[in-house]
Amino acid sequence: MAYPTQPTASHYINGAYVEDQTGDEIPVIYPATGDRIGLVHAGTPAIVDQAIAAAKAAQPAWAALSPRERGRILTRAAQIMRERNYDLSVLETHDTGKPLQETLVADATSGADALEYFGGLAGTLTGEHIPLGEDWAYTIREALGVCVGIGAWNYPTQIACWKGAPALACGNTMVFKPSETTPLCALKVAEILTEAGAPPGVFNVVQGMGQTGAQLVTDPRVAKVSLTGSAATGKKVYAAAAAEMKHVTMELGGKSPMIVFEDADIENAIGGAILGNFYSSGQICSNGTRVFVHRAIKEHFLTRLAERLATARIGDPMDEKTSFGPMVSQAQMNIVLRYIDIAKTEGARLVAGGQRIDRDGFYIEPTVFADVTDDMTIAREEIFGPVMSVLDFEDEDEVIARANATEYGLSAGVFTRDLSRGHRVIGGLQAGSCFINSYNDAPVEAPFGGVKASGVGRENARAAIEHYSQLKSVYVRMGDVEAPF
Ligand code: NAD
Repeated sequence: MAYPTQPTASHYINGAYVEDQTGDEIPVIYPATGDRIGLVHAGTPAIVDQAIAAAKAAQPAWAALSPRERGRILTRAAQIMRERNYDLSVLETHDTGKPLQETLVADATSGADALEYFGGLAGTLTGEHIPLGEDWAYTIREALGVCVGIGAWNYPTQIACWKGAPALACGNTMVFKPSETTPLCALKVAEILTEAGAPPGVFNVVQGMGQTGAQLVTDPRVAKVSLTGSAATGKKVYAAAAAEMKHVTMELGGKSPMIVFEDADIENAIGGAILGNFYSSGQICSNGTRVFVHRAIKEHFLTRLAERLATARIGDPMDEKTSFGPMVSQAQMNIVLRYIDIAKTEGARLVAGGQRIDRDGFYIEPTVFADVTDDMTIAREEIFGPVMSVLDFEDEDEVIARANATEYGLSAGVFTRDLSRGHRVIGGLQAGSCFINSYNDAPVEAPFGGVKASGVGRENARAAIEHYSQLKSVYVRMGDVEAPF
């Protein structure tokens, strides 16, 4: 790899890089060319054991530090990430294929936001005093212990920080397993935390496929599992964690609705639809992939959408002018191409794109289908690629019912100039992370997560603290104990 941030080994355990070449080989492929740019090894059972043992050993002393001291370390890590934003963004682009135009503003920077936010929050995490007449009770907010984080491949730096920062702020330690498709970025997060002063064992990284993840989830030393991944994997991981009554956070997939009413600012609505379908080549869990457009404005919406799509700059992700890059892998590209074929067969009207792009790497054109109906496969299944479905509607109640007719419930968006309608419609939608006249904003200050099959628990904001700590309540009797005998 010819860039300065290259990690030096596969795993990061107890404050240092660790290699074990007996683990299965996981090639690192640059999605923009298909070239192999690195190699890591999957964690063997011995590596998994070593990482969990390091996290377990480090946890009591980490939890015993003053919360402000833990917070200071996280804040320092945030500062280092911001100082190295360019190099970290280059690494993120090589790991994922996302254009540098995006990674410079959305990855290490949002990871730093989480480290900074939870670093600031650490000193404020208290219990409460509960007056009970003469007696009283109080609560103590305690860490859970060793937490396991398991990541998807679309935001490898951000996911490591969204899980690591609140976990560490609460006094937990973490073993993080990145997706096998994007193994590099989390190693840099671990390295930076060490540099910022995190003691050895507080944040560890182990590579591997699902099998390694499963081994981490079922280890009896692990108290909590936070997964970002597909609903299918979520069900398996949730079940495995439940068998030992472990805490979970599940950030899973979606098939989210974006509703454009006839009074919407059309250009803003198209902007939201572009962000919610084509940013990161459509590989975002909260994307509004079912775009319900009021029949009265549909053709105008489609015409302007196609005109704006034609201005996308598709190409080399390292060129900062490029605004649309490749899919993360050949496998994901093939999944998306299959969905495009199915949509054509089922009778959806192709308005834009629809083809693999003839160049090296895993590029697919930004694709829009119109006249999509609720029963079509592309309207029901998560595609996780640059494929937008435009569906017509006429009536508010009708569109709410249709928007909710999915197993998922991650996000939802409404575009309208009628404020009361905006709030009323959002109130009726079954989704955890919603937007009015916007799409896909995910600031660390606001809780993020899904309902129904899209997940359990919340990341970001104060809400995340509830999922990385537990309350001990203590009753204090001030007088004598009155026993019956
Ligand atoms: P995936 O479910 O295939 O894999 C996710 C992670 O789980 C990987 O690290 C994988 O190795 C691991 N894994 C697989 N099987 C496992 C098992 N049995 N036990 C433990 N770990 C296991 O998902 P993906 O293809 O990497 O990512 C795409 C999916 O992630 C999409 O469905 C997308 O919507 C979802 N996603 C959700 C969010 C969110 O915050 N809600 C964010 C990004 C991606």
